[in-house]
Amino acid sequence: MFLSRLSLENFRNFTKKEFHFENGINVLWGKNATGKSNLIEAIYFSLTGKPSRAGKEDELIQFSLPYARIETCVEKKKKKFILEASLERIEGNSTRKILKLNRNPIRRVSELMGEFKAVLFSPQDQSLVQGEPFYRRRFLDFMLCQTSKMYLHSYMKYQGVKDQRNSLLKQTHSSAELFPWNSKLIESGSQLLLKRLEILPELSVLSQKAHHFLCQSESLELQYLSSFPLPEQHKRDLETIQESFEKALAETAQEEKKRGITLVGPHRDDMKIFINNLDARLFASQGQQKTAALSMRLAEGMFFEKMEEEPPVYLLDDCFSELDSDRQHDFCDFFFKNTQTILTLSQEPTPDLKLFPSIKLTNSGKETVTYGISG
Ligand code: ATP
Ligand code: MG
Repeated sequence: MFLSRLSLENFRNFTKKEFHFENGINVLWGKNATGKSNLIEAIYFSLTGKPSRAGKEDELIQFSLPYARIETCVEKKKKKFILEASLERIEGNSTRKILKLNRNPIRRVSELMGEFKAVLFSPQDQSLVQGEPFYRRRFLDFMLCQTSKMYLHSYMKYQGVKDQRNSLLKQTHSSAELFPWNSKLIESGSQLLLKRLEILPELSVLSQKAHHFLCQSESLELQYLSSFPLPEQHKRDLETIQESFEKALAETAQEEKKRGITLVGPHRDDMKIFINNLDARLFASQGQQKTAALSMRLAEGMFFEKMEEEPPVYLLDDCFSELDSDRQHDFCDFFFKNTQTILTLSQEPTPDLKLFPSIKLTNSGKETVTYGISG
């Protein structure tokens, strides 16, 4: 996939701006608060219809202005697309969002899910390694929802069933009342689990491969951590996973009744990350954690590429801070000519990155565009 143009109107600190991007690496650099993360966010928002950071959508509109607009030109499998996203303030903090593809309105945001694939790495991604299990589950779920309609369907179903089951658990209830919710939970949850277990070894290999580019001396491994005992590896299929899930629910029934929440299932699972066979959450340095998180994002991109036979757009916000010069140098070799990458730096590009086209953002809003030696 290739993003050639981005036009912004009233998006965060950009009043009216147009940016053009090249294939390969594009460097976006400038001092703090010049809008680098905002630009990455704008690209992500226009490709997915969803904000990349937590917060309300009205925060994306420039302070005290009534609307924001983003228009993006994208090329996918040699076809050109125009994506438009606009946000309008309505009463209170609410917004009206209008998304269009080739000038035709998109009815639901989920219609865009997985259509235009972007891999986003942001400074908050250190949480992938160091944060709560929620971040690792979100990583897996979002990746799978974008590549499998069946996973997306099971995921939405599971969330709904789990919430309804939790509200029943909080009230006085009989086993007979809980029974249909158990069946639905087991049915959709086992689909999620089966798919996650199926892709995990591959994701682990891809992460290791990416990690090897960034740091030859370290190994990286991902392991799935289920909230209940799984059937032995050679016996794992939908049926045996359903049986194990059912058994685990029966075993935790008393505790669930006491606490009023569903205690087992894919919403309680985790993924362990090992660097040189040590638990990275506990023992890795800041730089190692950041490299591992970046490797996992690059693995996500390689996974998308395998599914689509075309690489996604990589949006890498501040991925270099905390990486030493060797890791930065090796990073550039990872990307091939036909993979588009937009990366941000808060310092002048290093000699390795000076080879690539760059845009310098300034507070005055006047950007300088430089074409790299190779571009
Ligand atoms: P850093 O190098 O520190 O990461 P950055 O270049 O990534 O900086 P951004 O996070 O993109 O900076 O933010 C740039 C500026 O945009 C900030 O000063 C912020 O106050 C401003 N900003 C954020 N939201 C809005 C908005 N809705 N309207 C106007 N300005 C905004
Ligand atoms: Mg930033």
